[in-house]
Amino acid sequence: MFFVVGIRTIRSAIGDGEFHCPACGGDRRFRKGGGRRRLVLFGVALIPLGRAGSGVECAMCCTRHDVAVLDTPTARALTLLLREAVRTLVVAVVAAVDDEPQEVDAIRAAAVEAVRAAGMPSYDACALAVDVGAHLAQDTAWALAEIAPHLAVAGREHLVGVAARVALACGAYDPAHRVILYHAGDQLGLGRARVDHVLAGP
Ligand SMILES: [Zn+2]
Repeated sequence: MFFVVGIRTIRSAIGDGEFHCPACGGDRRFRKGGGRRRLVLFGVALIPLGRAGSGVECAMCCTRHDVAVLDTPTARALTLLLREAVRTLVVAVVAAVDDEPQEVDAIRAAAVEAVRAAGMPSYDACALAVDVGAHLAQDTAWALAEIAPHLAVAGREHLVGVAARVALACGAYDPAHRVILYHAGDQLGLGRARVDHVLAGP
């Protein structure tokens, strides 16, 4: 159909990158663009009518989204955040151990296994020793704050459960471990009752 008079939006790309497309459900490339609207007469764009809203277009399915969609991390970024949260949390558990060497060894072995299972298959006792030596409580706080908004309750409980299993490798919770686990639950927005439940059967 041919329109004598109309409005056309002329878009131009102003950036690109990777995002999670909610329309086709995966990590995709995007094109970020702005646009200017013009009055069209007999198919010819004539009078500028101002800026059109900027948006993000998925390179895979071509769906246009509001730029707010870029606030959601990609699946790849979430995986890295989760891996970092596991690593720093079990490192905190190991760093708090002040017991018999036999118990320390069991907890260290469990910590290495937990980090490997979280996606770092090359993690070993040497890497753990370096991490424990460099551990700062704020590293754990930062990592948990980053991942918390993106996890459902079950995911947050799982995270505390992973650390709880490491803490239990010596047979019983050390008081210092309880402090770390409840604090982690608090940072993840879990109530005390939920942390109690996780600690009762990690
Ligand atoms: Zn898409």
